[in-house]
Amino acid sequence: MSECTHNCSTCSANCPSAGQQAPEGCTHDCSTCSANCPSAAQQAPEGCTHDCSTCSANCGSRQMDLSDFRKPLNPLSKVKKVIGVVSGKGGVGKSLVTSLLAVEMGRLGYTTAILDADITGPSIPKAFGLNGIRADGDELGIYPVPSKFGTQIMSVNLLLPDETDPVVWRGPVIAGQVEQFWSEVIWKDVDFMFIDMPPGTGDVPLTVFQSIPIDGIVIVTSPQQLVSMVVTKAIKMAQLMNVPILGVVENMSYLQCPDCGKRLSVFGESGLDKVADKLGVKVLGKLPIDPALARNVDDGQIELYEGDYMGDIVAAVEALL
Ligand code: ADP
Repeated sequence: MSECTHNCSTCSANCPSAGQQAPEGCTHDCSTCSANCPSAAQQAPEGCTHDCSTCSANCGSRQMDLSDFRKPLNPLSKVKKVIGVVSGKGGVGKSLVTSLLAVEMGRLGYTTAILDADITGPSIPKAFGLNGIRADGDELGIYPVPSKFGTQIMSVNLLLPDETDPVVWRGPVIAGQVEQFWSEVIWKDVDFMFIDMPPGTGDVPLTVFQSIPIDGIVIVTSPQQLVSMVVTKAIKMAQLMNVPILGVVENMSYLQCPDCGKRLSVFGESGLDKVADKLGVKVLGKLPIDPALARNVDDGQIELYEGDYMGDIVAAVEALL
């Protein structure tokens, strides 16, 4: 951003320095302050030379060099843009937002794919009605399963002998499976790949961030979460890993009365706008609780959903191309 004034309060750009904005009253001396703010994480420890390659300290200012960890794509694959969909905890609608993003981008004419990295809670195949279908493979690689409208999908549930079998694996094995989805699956001419990440900031999201070149992440949250803490954690992790943040989506934000059209805040007001403003990230959209949406997912027909709540989210993703 050549014209940056470094005054984030007058600017809505979702640039990397926006997330570093110090809170009001900040003296920029973290040694005299205990606030766990985004700029604190960037504070270098005493004696820091800012050359992370010569230092093993796991401090907030460490910027990871991810190039050593990148895994190659299958030689037959082509993927233009990769978007990670993350959340602080499970059940907030991360898989749903991942699915809707693929559906909407497909409707715009792009070739889409979903890599289901939520290995222990895979819900993508069900939303697309792929229950009981198994992925094929040969000496060239593993083939993703196409949905009815052409989204290429890979999920552990498409490989298990029985989809009700639990995945009882330790973290490194799960992470290895995700890497295999990236490196061994043959992704054909994909414009946008969406990765349904496991919730939280643990082993597997870390591996995904390290091994797959992610162009941007969408953070999904819901009003009943401790929004400030959860969103801040996700943002800090993305910053640490040098992954651009496209913005935050609030799911189950409200319920619209089918009779009078009034919006009811079932879980109370979330305060997301304030938090996002403070952290310098965009709120890309707010999705209602919509029984039709739940029904479409349960019936395996997410591709037939007609609601129109994804406009700004889709625009932020499309702008990456
Ligand atoms: P996560 O991936 O964060 O664990 P899911 O996307 O699997 O969450 O959503 C959990 C459940 O809630 C699913 O059954 C989904 O269909 C339902 N759901 C999510 N968002 C909505 C919504 N806005 N309206 C209705 N049902 C929803």
